[in-house]
Amino acid sequence: MSSTQPGRREAPASAAGVPTEPSVREHASLLRLVANSVPALMAFYDNETLRCLFANAGYAKTFGFDEQSVLGRTLEEIIGPEANRSIEPYVNQIRQTHKPQRYERQLPSPTGTRWIEVQLLPHFDASGTLAGAFVLINDITRHREAERALRESEERLAKFMDASVEGIVFHKDGFVTDANQPALELIGYSLDEMRGRKTLEFIAPEHVAKVVEVMTARAETAYESAILHRDGTRIPVEFIVRTIVRGDETLRMTVVRDLRATQAARQRIHHLAHHDALTGLFNRTAFMERLDALMGSGRAGDAQGALLFIDLDHFKRVNDSLGHLAGDVLLQTLAQRLTSLLRGSDVVARFGGDEFMVLLQGAMPLADVEEVARKLLSSMSAPVLLEGRSISVTPSVGIALYPQHADTPADLLRNADAAMYQAKRHGRATHQLYDPELSRRAIEALELESQLTRAIERNEFVLHYQPQVRASDGRLAGCEALIRWRHPVRGLVEPDQFIPLAEEQRLIVPIGQWVLREATQAARRWRDAGRALPVSVNLSSLQFRDADFADNVASALGEAGIPGSALEVEITERMLMDDVDSVRATLSHLKALGVRVAIDDFGTGYSSLGHLNQLPIDRIKIDRSFVHGLPDNAGNAAIARAIITLAASLGREVIAEGVETEAQRGFLVALGCHQLQGLLFGAPTEGAPFAA
Ligand code: C2E
Ligand code: MG
Ligand code: MG
Repeated sequence: MSSTQPGRREAPASAAGVPTEPSVREHASLLRLVANSVPALMAFYDNETLRCLFANAGYAKTFGFDEQSVLGRTLEEIIGPEANRSIEPYVNQIRQTHKPQRYERQLPSPTGTRWIEVQLLPHFDASGTLAGAFVLINDITRHREAERALRESEERLAKFMDASVEGIVFHKDGFVTDANQPALELIGYSLDEMRGRKTLEFIAPEHVAKVVEVMTARAETAYESAILHRDGTRIPVEFIVRTIVRGDETLRMTVVRDLRATQAARQRIHHLAHHDALTGLFNRTAFMERLDALMGSGRAGDAQGALLFIDLDHFKRVNDSLGHLAGDVLLQTLAQRLTSLLRGSDVVARFGGDEFMVLLQGAMPLADVEEVARKLLSSMSAPVLLEGRSISVTPSVGIALYPQHADTPADLLRNADAAMYQAKRHGRATHQLYDPELSRRAIEALELESQLTRAIERNEFVLHYQPQVRASDGRLAGCEALIRWRHPVRGLVEPDQFIPLAEEQRLIVPIGQWVLREATQAARRWRDAGRALPVSVNLSSLQFRDADFADNVASALGEAGIPGSALEVEITERMLMDDVDSVRATLSHLKALGVRVAIDDFGTGYSSLGHLNQLPIDRIKIDRSFVHGLPDNAGNAAIARAIITLAASLGREVIAEGVETEAQRGFLVALGCHQLQGLLFGAPTEGAPFAA
């Protein structure tokens, strides 16, 4: 080996060197400084002897030496026999080929085994002979671990792809790079056929734009799409896309989820949600959607249609007598008949129970609509064989037209319903066109009817009291209790608007009982306040005919603790004509209690004078229609005079109601009327009549 050996410890320079050139010693220390400040391990070995002539601190320390003690030792001494054997091929190689060598090996260390990359760089002397080799060692543990992690993650990914029952496709820059078996089966190609082809080739054309958008944005998302199967069919799928960084390449991974089963389920649910399970017809939801579509504001104003509201007459009887199964069969049969009668554009629905709905779409003269209604009626009324019996059920049909009868689907439906209700009232088994006037009243009556039932429990009634005065001096002599209904929406409702309804519904009996109780309690309070004022209550004939009526009066008086003379009942002439015997019994019972009886609205009925004479009547109330226009109205003046004269001849008192003017008062007083009632003396008010 030649003289020039890098890293060789030179003797201190003996001769005086050129001052500007660093000395050899200085060279050596500079070299060491550099060598010790790089992370790499460095050493130089002599070619002949394989002894270490230079090593930086890192190198020496790695093998258990320091910078001094490592020098002059052989390679084998330093790295150990085993390692020496393993690197022998490279040493031989560099000696023979004079070419740099590179290898990686493991190196035990106190912190665990490390991976190192070793480079052997040949160094030649001036004559070109191989003098030795630089050893340059880099710690590549981290790099190796990253590689291993990558390899493992790829293996994991591959395993995951294999194990997944869902299709997975990898693509890069828009081209397919890999796909698992489920994906291949779903799309119908082999991996070889798919790999390298454009991803978009496998997408249904109408979905390409969306896929491109997601790909371009590199979005990580999930969305519904459709793929093109090899056989050309479209398969609805969900794509779940992710970006995957694999080493230095970026892949797109798409999970392809087959939505065919899901969509079928969705359609099933949609079907269930929109159809009547029994008949398969549309249900209310679906029907209203159609109606909406027809009448919706989005449509031009020329949309027209007719809604037929069909309700079976007495369907309940079928259910009750033959059972629900028979009822179901009947409904199914009628549903079929309906469907077969109508055009494809017509919509038929069952709203539950025995209600069917038909929507005839498009312009149609009324005569044609009615013709359809007639056909429906006759077809549906035809007998059905149920449990061996021939049963026939008729429908009532209500018709409402769009746009003539309503602006909104809900109104159209309501009006068709009202028309159907009219059809029922007209004897059923018929059809009826919506009549705005009739239905308004019908609806109001229905509404009031249902609310009236609850008005008692809700304590919505109130009594107003109107003063009755003595004709001679105008002093307060009594009062009449007049009922009002404090309706939660309509406000104060006058008795004319609900008493007839209450009578029809027989609600007048409990209402009348309430009035009786309330009025006697009021009389009690007035007494307690030092004003014993008689109170008159109005009776309805139902109440009066009630066998318990007189007993009720007795207990109301008893509860209030007032004498019978503090109460007057007003009955009408008509009530007296009903059933003379029972009337007589009730009246004498009342008399026994001391209760007074007045004939209200006298002159408007047909009571025979003979009657009046026989009955224990205390006084007669001249109806306000005869007070009206007194004294100028000659007819009324004559009637008023006749009534007062008659009453006097029978020994009965007379009170006139509806007295509004001084002239009326003067005239009635002159005729000998005993008491007066009317706005002239005070309107009915909620408080005690003497408060004003
Ligand atoms: P009615 O018994 O003939 O009552 C007199 C009606 O004349 C009351 O009407 C009263 O407010 C009204 N009136 C009072 N002063 C005047 C006036 O100066 N001029 C005019 N034009 N009218 C006047 P209201 O309160 O609307 O009662 C109407 C009818 O309802 C009563 O006629 C009575 O038949 C019935 N009614 C009232 N309360 C009850 C009740 O508790 N039970 C029953 N069964 N019917 C009642
Ligand atoms: Mg009255
Ligand atoms: Mg009256």
